Amino acid sequence: RCKARGRNSFCFYSAELQRAGAATLSLENDLAQAVARDQLRLHYQPQIAMETGQLVGLEALLRWQHPRLGLLAPASFIVLAEEAHLMADLGDWVLEQACRDAAVLRQRDLEHVKIAINVSPQQFQQAGFARRMLARIAAAGLSPRQFEVEIVETSLMRDMKTTQNLLATLADAGVAIAVDDFGTGYSSLGYLQSLPLHTLKLDRCFVRPISQSGSISPIVRAVLAMARGLELDCVAEGVESPIQHQALREAGCRIGQGYHYSRPLTFDVLLAGLRLQAGGAVLTPTSSHPH
Ligand code: C2E
Ligand code: MG
Ligand code: MG
Ligand code: MG
Repeated sequence: RCKARGRNSFCFYSAELQRAGAATLSLENDLAQAVARDQLRLHYQPQIAMETGQLVGLEALLRWQHPRLGLLAPASFIVLAEEAHLMADLGDWVLEQACRDAAVLRQRDLEHVKIAINVSPQQFQQAGFARRMLARIAAAGLSPRQFEVEIVETSLMRDMKTTQNLLATLADAGVAIAVDDFGTGYSSLGYLQSLPLHTLKLDRCFVRPISQSGSISPIVRAVLAMARGLELDCVAEGVESPIQHQALREAGCRIGQGYHYSRPLTFDVLLAGLRLQAGGAVLTPTSSHPH
């Protein structure tokens, strides 16, 4: 068909586009089957109390074990899932798996270790999201206090009324609410006071510049002071080095998450690497410094 037009360059471009389109379409078809074919996985990344080294939370991070492409991180399929309206199904799977793992934590007397679940804007906008989440947690015989939801700042700002009701439903039941990637969205600070928040997750772009000197920017200090004043937990994301850890700790940050403590791990590997102590659990040296 292309050849008949005698436009080789156009022909090439068109074929390329077709291939790209076909690849996306086939990935979308694969993704639609991923739940049924048991290809989704949750990895968990520890959140650590900087003072004591105790494990206080686990962030659930979705992975897709693709039969040909291998283990895929969310960057390569979450947007696709949203466009194809598959995110609700994926989110349901995440919550079910997180409930199974939370039940194991409970058996091990680790109920205080919260499982943090990422919720995309699209999931968040669904009618009845909060009620369905609470129903699932109740059906698993678990306490909402074992869970936290992470919502990116920009998604909180979309529809204040809906957001307020939804978060109130979750928070009243005991689910902790975290603002993810805090500091990267363009938003007014007023919402920090009007929403029932529990945690600010300081985006890793603020942690990255803490280099050899260990000096902390005025912005980070201000965020930490604000979190303290509002009685919110602050979790530093992307802590990769002992210098970053030390500097943040000295600046009053209480909780850290990042490769310095642990990469995201499968639940089984993570559990195997925990050492139980009176009143909690710490990572053993092998699991805390895997690189
Ligand atoms: P996020 O919620 O901000 O998650 C943190 C991301 O930073 C994770 O990437 C994690 O592996 C990575 N990370 C952790 N520590 C370090 C570090 O020290 N250095 C660096 N450079 N990176 C670090 P991941 O797993 O690829 O997830 C990317 C994003 O995908 C997440 O960002 C989250 O927004 C989204 N996501 C993950 N799981 C889910 C899910 O189940 N549902 C939804 N809706 N979104 C998810
Ligand atoms: Mg997150
Ligand atoms: Mg984040
Ligand atoms: Mg992020």
